[in-house]
Amino acid sequence: MDADRVSADLGRILLFEADIQRRVAELAGQIERDYEGSDLLLVGVLKGAVMFMADLSRALQRHVETDWMAISSYGSGTKSSGVVRILKDLDTDITGRNVLVIEDIIDTGLTLSWLAANLRSRGPASVEICALLRKPEAAKTNVHIRYVGFDIPSEFVVGYGLDYAERYRNLRDIVTLAAHLYT
Ligand code: IMP
Repeated sequence: MDADRVSADLGRILLFEADIQRRVAELAGQIERDYEGSDLLLVGVLKGAVMFMADLSRALQRHVETDWMAISSYGSGTKSSGVVRILKDLDTDITGRNVLVIEDIIDTGLTLSWLAANLRSRGPASVEICALLRKPEAAKTNVHIRYVGFDIPSEFVVGYGLDYAERYRNLRDIVTLAAHLYT
């Protein structure tokens, strides 16, 4: 879907489809170099990372395996609750594997620090994080993010997999949500 179809709900376009694709290709190049000669399992976090995972995995010129987890953190609002629940666990045994978590956005970092700790307790060779977007608040957490697509301002954004109450995931661009929808 194009942003001008639902413009009344949206603020401004923060990242155009082309900007996203360019950055995804750069990240893929970096990941290829860093994991050269090693096994690699991409773990996507449902549902927000679906588009990013699809594009990043196809940009990688090497073998990778993919798996998915679903965790709940926000419900349908715009504030992190800090309470994380596993809704769908991995199908893969990650013992001895190099795991790269593919996440859409890091705001407070609460979700990812919990997830990284959970995955590290399963005996993998390594756990690293690749997030498409990072908000300024994330700087306060101690979770190390190895790959970041874009640092963005502290605004609620939708599109390219990111939702507000399950809508707007199918926008091609990343767009700020109009303030009247969440204030
Ligand atoms: P954190 O625990 O505060 O880092 O929140 C991370 C999760 O909250 C992400 O995986 C998203 O699902 C959701 N989230 C945070 N900020 C946004 C946003 O601007 N738009 C849509 N979802 C967001």
